[in-house]
Amino acid sequence: DPFAFADDLGPERVIHIHRPGVGLRAVLVVDNTACGAAIGGVRMAADADAREAFRLARAMTMKNAAAGLAHGGGKAVIIADPHAPEERRESLVRAFAGAIRDIADYIPGPDMGTNETCMAWVREETGRAVGLPRAIGGIPLDEIGATGIGLGAAVGVAAARIGLSLAGARVAVQGFGAVGQHAARVLAAQGAVLVAASDTHGTLVDEGGLDVARLAALKAEGRALVEHGTGRRELRDAIIGVPCDIWIPAARPDVIDGANVHRLQARIVAQGANIPCTPEAEAALHARGVLVLPDFIANAGGVICAAVEFHGGSEEDALRTIVARIRANTEAVLEEAARHGIQPRAAAVALAERRVRAAMALRRFR
Ligand code: NAD
Repeated sequence: DPFAFADDLGPERVIHIHRPGVGLRAVLVVDNTACGAAIGGVRMAADADAREAFRLARAMTMKNAAAGLAHGGGKAVIIADPHAPEERRESLVRAFAGAIRDIADYIPGPDMGTNETCMAWVREETGRAVGLPRAIGGIPLDEIGATGIGLGAAVGVAAARIGLSLAGARVAVQGFGAVGQHAARVLAAQGAVLVAASDTHGTLVDEGGLDVARLAALKAEGRALVEHGTGRRELRDAIIGVPCDIWIPAARPDVIDGANVHRLQARIVAQGANIPCTPEAEAALHARGVLVLPDFIANAGGVICAAVEFHGGSEEDALRTIVARIRANTEAVLEEAARHGIQPRAAAVALAERRVRAAMALRRFR
């Protein structure tokens, strides 16, 4: 029962969409709009369901509030194969957009299985969307490294708090994709050394420092790091045990759990991926004195970029806003966590919830 999730924050609106004519099944959850119209991705996956939309919509409420955006949280899932032919995808996305045209307090963005072209279709049907192609006013967030740059800013704050100088700090990045490589780039620019990087094919290790630009060029050509990079080749999950100062998960959820958390040897874990650590593993890291930067604080660069795009800002505005907001929020969260002796995630949830509740108090009668 997905409604078991409902509490006083939301969801405000749940729309189940079924258009048998085009074979569309989709769910839109607008979780909370107290801070403003909800921004949240449209996911296309064959195994997506309403429960997932509820969970992800709430995560967006918390992420957007924590980032201090004038936006609430929502999420949509289109239950379909994202690898279907383009024409089929277009018909599904346009039908979905037509069905949510009047839900003005939801602004769709790209997510797993959808992209900027899909958002162009959505905007044509509804008049609103973020994550658009550059030609129609979009800011290409993965190209400019929005999330990775924000992650780098969060790491800078965390390092300063524990007295770790970024010059010479050893960094390991799990998942050298859009997020991971930009985080590695900004940290390397401040003197950090990339000692290990991984992708689905394996881990590449070099204590002397891997060449970030060369690895990024390999990824752009669609090549595997371990087959073409220089360094020691190891198995994919070897990255977990590489001794380093800063460990950056930027691949998949749940990669660190109760069974492997003892292998991590880092002082800071900066969560680029969403929920890369199970709650049990995150608590164990905290107990060991590892500073864990929560995903929805550290990886909010993408949605901050989307909000700047929505309000007509430039790429420069987006990058400036991402760094300023994430620095300030990371500082606030780590300060509160230290003051109360709690996990950074608990402090981050409290911060986000305070903001949402303050916004809700301004509109008592809705
Ligand atoms: P991406 O597809 O560009 O990169 C992911 C990389 O991870 C790929 O190189 C892939 O080979 C690698 N990978 C996958 N499984 C792996 C594994 N088990 N071990 C090692 N490497 C593995 O994706 P991205 O946009 O960089 O996103 C990375 C993660 O961050 C995702 O979980 C995503 O949901 C999350 N995230 C992304 C953004 C964004 O702005 N792109 C924002 C917030 C969160």
